[in-house]
Amino acid sequence: MKISELFYSLQGEGKRTGVPSFFIRTNYCNLRCRFTGGNYCDTPYTSWLPDDNENLGDVEVERIIDRFIKSGARDAVITGGEPSIQKEELSLLCSGLKSSGAYITLETNGTMISDFKNYIDLISVSPKLSSSVPYGTEHEKSHEKNRINNDVLLEYEKGFREKLLDIQWKFVICSERDIQEIKELQQSIGFSNRDVYLMPEGISPMI
Ligand code: SF4
Repeated sequence: MKISELFYSLQGEGKRTGVPSFFIRTNYCNLRCRFTGGNYCDTPYTSWLPDDNENLGDVEVERIIDRFIKSGARDAVITGGEPSIQKEELSLLCSGLKSSGAYITLETNGTMISDFKNYIDLISVSPKLSSSVPYGTEHEKSHEKNRINNDVLLEYEKGFREKLLDIQWKFVICSERDIQEIKELQQSIGFSNRDVYLMPEGISPMI
C-alpha cells in the first residue's frame, strides 16, 4: 500500500480527541487543495508532492498491521492523502485491523466510497468547499469538478442513520462565506449540527 507515514500520537480533533491512536497516512490524493488564505493542503507531501522521498512508499499491509499491534493503541486512524483511492488495499488493511481489535476511524474527503459496512467505526468526512479551489493552477478544473460528490456523501450519512458506523463532518473555514456553503450542503445531505466540526484555516499567529 502506498504510505506516506506511520506514527503514534493523540487524536487532535473531532469526536475521538485525546484518544491515543496509531496513524496510518496513505499517500496520494485525487484533490489539490489550496485555500483562499493561501495555505496549501496540510499534508502537501501526500497530494501536491506525493513522489517526494520523505514518503515511506510501498509498505505491505501485514507490516502496517504488525506496527499497529506493537504500538499498543486501540484506535487506528487511516488518513491521507485520500485513503479510498487504494480501494483493495484499504479493504485488506481494515479487515486486518478489525481482526486485531482496532477501533477504526477513516478520514476521507468524501469524493469516493469505501467498504465501510464491515470495518469502519467512525467515518470522518471532510468535504472541500469552494474556498479550497487552487485557482490559476493546472489542477483548478479537476479539483472543482471532483471536490463534492453528493451521492457518496449521502451514502455515508445513510450508513450513519442505519447505525452501521458513527460519523463526523469536518470543514476548513477560511471566511464567513464558507458557513453558507456548509448550510446548503447540510440541506442536501441532512447531517446534524451535532456531528459538525469547524476548523479555522489558521493563517495568522495568535498574539
Ligand atoms: S483533500 Fe485533504 S489530502 Fe487532499 S489535497 Fe485536500 S486537504 Fe490535502
